[in-house]
Amino acid sequence: MSLENRVCINSCEEYDSRRIYAVIQEQFRQLNAAELVKPGMKAVIKPNLVLKSKPEAAVVTHPLVVAAVASCLQELGAEVLVAESPGGLYTPGALRSSYHACGYSDAAKSHGFALNEDCSSRELKTPGGAVSKTFEVIAPILDADLIVDVCKLKTHCMMGLSAAVKNMFGVVPGLMKPELHCRFPEKAPFAEMLVDLCCGVRPHLCVVDAITAMEGNGPSGGNPRFVGALLSARDPFYLDVLCAGLVGMKTADIPYLQAAHSRGLCPADIDGLEIIGENYRSFIAPDFVQPESKTSNFIEHLPRFLQPLAARLATPAPRIRAKDCVGCGKCAESCPQHTIKLENRRARIDYSHCIRCYCCHEMCPQHVIDIKRMPLFKL
Ligand code: SF4
Ligand code: SF4
Repeated sequence: MSLENRVCINSCEEYDSRRIYAVIQEQFRQLNAAELVKPGMKAVIKPNLVLKSKPEAAVVTHPLVVAAVASCLQELGAEVLVAESPGGLYTPGALRSSYHACGYSDAAKSHGFALNEDCSSRELKTPGGAVSKTFEVIAPILDADLIVDVCKLKTHCMMGLSAAVKNMFGVVPGLMKPELHCRFPEKAPFAEMLVDLCCGVRPHLCVVDAITAMEGNGPSGGNPRFVGALLSARDPFYLDVLCAGLVGMKTADIPYLQAAHSRGLCPADIDGLEIIGENYRSFIAPDFVQPESKTSNFIEHLPRFLQPLAARLATPAPRIRAKDCVGCGKCAESCPQHTIKLENRRARIDYSHCIRCYCCHEMCPQHVIDIKRMPLFKL
């Protein structure tokens, strides 16, 4: 097998700088990162900073994992910049506020890497894309010599899994992300779009922070869950096949992995990977809590004419706990369908236009938007 098929997994039981650094250094050796990183290169680390959140909540990539990756790249001679477009507005002020809230400002000072504040973006052409031939992408990613995807292992209400591939959605600037949800409201085309984007950006190295992962209604409303592992690979699709297995899912449960597999970009299951390091089975959590939005497959057994209606009814909807809503408007700002209004400083959803993308659930800083399935379909 080639280095592209290789996925490294090693135990790391706590957020201890030295241990994290030692694991990443060994994984980069296994992946021959020195072949990719040349002195003087501009290396851009793309973390997951979807929401302003403390590292222990397991919403964002832990800053100590980013710091360890930065140190390994600096030792190989690269200049390191961390760049991300979190959900919401993409402005220098919003970026600084995210860096501070997520613990990145302190990590950058102590480990000597830079944090991006340039909020320009340009068009990336993806002529081979199946559903999208261009994307608007933040400038530092386009200007990088080397892109390193450093993500968090999380469940995801819409895509099932958030790891290396889904993390690349964050290269689309701020409020342009809801536009893509509008263009691709159904899961399957949205998944194809993610594959087009990931292939277009093509990170050179990928690292997954799975020391503490997120289970349940991720990527921001779930609960921290100890997994105790760090993973690395050159290929984001191969890496996510193993990530899916760790959280008790199959490739077939993840729409973007299904799309990637049908394009020949990744194997159908873990057996097609070359796994280096420790036995991945020791990290699998069989009771890992899945997102409530995970679709059941009973629909395909219904008569064809009933399937669209059943699919609509069976897809869980976002429900706002009105008494806990503080009226901040973040959900309305992120809703691609503009179907959330603030009334008397409380958010209210008009379900006639809701496409079940769960951006509102993802962006609510108070975590007061639940994902609810009709009781009949819970059965
Ligand atoms: S209400 Fe929420 S789930 Fe529905 S379209 Fe808007 S952001 Fe998406
Ligand atoms: S983001 Fe959450 S707290 Fe803010 S208005 Fe929407 S539901 Fe309320």
